[in-house]
Amino acid sequence: MFNQVFEQGEKELVSPSPGPQITTTMKPTHIEHLGIAVTSLEEAMPFFEFLTGNKCYSIEEVADQKVRTAFFKVGQTKIELLEPTCPESTIAKFIEKNGGRGGVHHVAFNVESVEEALKEAEAAGIQLIDLKPRKGAENLMIAFLHPKSTKGVLTEICEQPSSSSEQ
Ligand code: ZN
Repeated sequence: MFNQVFEQGEKELVSPSPGPQITTTMKPTHIEHLGIAVTSLEEAMPFFEFLTGNKCYSIEEVADQKVRTAFFKVGQTKIELLEPTCPESTIAKFIEKNGGRGGVHHVAFNVESVEEALKEAEAAGIQLIDLKPRKGAENLMIAFLHPKSTKGVLTEICEQPSSSSEQ
């Protein structure tokens, strides 16, 4: 499929990267959710209901992260709106840096085991924000990787509660 694209184009856009095979065992199954910072859930929700064609199915405060969250389904993936609950919230700081507007804050990949994925990321020299999995919204076990190590994209890895041995 890619070769066809190259043949039709005037020049090759990308070349396959040389070197050893990718040995990751993180194996994300899908993008679990996109985290989007908003100044107000109530103000933002009608647009996301319009965009996704779905009603918000859950609003939850995550005291730990100083946010209120609202979730929308888009197929298997979700949109997680994040509203800061106090000025010290990292989401409040993100909005402040972004000129008072919200925006895409993080991308969350679903993995089999956050603990294993963290070990692997650390071994690969990726800077971790969370050294251990912790509980996020929707009872997911989550951990964040530092954007310094992830091409500027704040990256969350998460694990469904049903697949956790601790449940
Ligand atoms: Zn998230």
